[in-house]
Amino acid sequence: MSILSSRARALKPSPTLAINAKAKSMQAQGIHVISFGAGEPDFDTPDNIKRAAVKAIEEGFTKYTAVGGTDELKDAILHKFKRDNGLTYKRSQVIASSGGKHSFYNLTQALLEGGDEVVVPSPFWVSYPPMVALTGATPVIVETREENDFKMTPPDLEKAITPRTKALIINSPSNPTGSTYTKEELEKISQIALAHNVFVISDEIYEKIVYDGFQFTSIASLGEEIKKRTMIVHGVAKTYAMTGWRIGYAAGPEEIIAAMSNIQSQSTSNPNSIAQKATIEALVGPQEAVAKMVAAFLERRNYIVDRLNELPDVSCYKPAGAFYVFPNFSSYYGRSYQGKRISNSTQLADFFLDVARVAVVPGVEFGADPFERLSFATSMEDIQEGLDRIEEALRQLK
Ligand code: PLP
Repeated sequence: MSILSSRARALKPSPTLAINAKAKSMQAQGIHVISFGAGEPDFDTPDNIKRAAVKAIEEGFTKYTAVGGTDELKDAILHKFKRDNGLTYKRSQVIASSGGKHSFYNLTQALLEGGDEVVVPSPFWVSYPPMVALTGATPVIVETREENDFKMTPPDLEKAITPRTKALIINSPSNPTGSTYTKEELEKISQIALAHNVFVISDEIYEKIVYDGFQFTSIASLGEEIKKRTMIVHGVAKTYAMTGWRIGYAAGPEEIIAAMSNIQSQSTSNPNSIAQKATIEALVGPQEAVAKMVAAFLERRNYIVDRLNELPDVSCYKPAGAFYVFPNFSSYYGRSYQGKRISNSTQLADFFLDVARVAVVPGVEFGADPFERLSFATSMEDIQEGLDRIEEALRQLK
């Protein structure tokens, strides 16, 4: 009998973190790897945010705080929702955690149990199905199509709902596709959710990273009824280049926030006190740094999408949000390199890493095997060089 619980045995490590680890270990051996693997901005955290943290240390703000974050931080979160989304919450309706992932985890633990079903549109962020499954609930995957811009259609959603459906997940802008839902599309989803009494989990962590004038809408802002049935999961990691600081937050019904807070009180306690101070500056301080980063992402997106679409037999959807592209490489499946056949996204990603020294994340990890995910949160030089390498490597597949 294994010493490990069946829960632990069933869990795979996060594939995105694993690919980055492999790329880093090749780099440590002196191999120049270009990594499109990381889900994090390559920029440094803006100076005003760093200074707020230094000040917190110097002032001795280094003790435990309230479990769900200080009142000052909660007020900054409330300010953000009012300013950006026109949403009014009370302090008792928000919680800060050690990253958006942690907020999401606490939420699944508070909401779900065996017998429940959760609608997860695919391609999905790698951590949704495992976090749902850890509660004993079942992720019900709804496949979206490239020709629908990777968006779940109302009929597909209706079909997936059963009497056991407790919640559905919306992630707009999406990791891995960068796909974005318009206000009208969210209205339809909201109507279906309300009609079937399904709770909405809206992961809005890429809200600020949008292009081409896309107007972000939070599904919770569409009316009082849907607001009462929605939990927003958010964080500062992506918007403010603060991945290492580990602050995320959630907003929604008081009862669920209180349960999440209980879970947090018995596991991790408060998120880092210094990072809380930095987050207040991020959320209420000057926002110019965000616009600058988004402008850089836009330039890279335009370049990488064009280059990918110029590759023979590759198609790449142009995302209006986040910093990923999700090109379709499936025309290459069935071709071989030095007698070795490549049949899926994992084998193609291995081929790119071994032959081109380029790290990408296989689409299968996001529930969509025809694709690979490339993050363009890396320098223009690396994007150019990486695409040159991919182009050359693909030519060698016969
Ligand atoms: N949600 C999505 C869709 C993400 O891509 C990520 C990070 O990769 C997160 C949530 C969690 O981010 P963090 O825990 O760094 O705040």
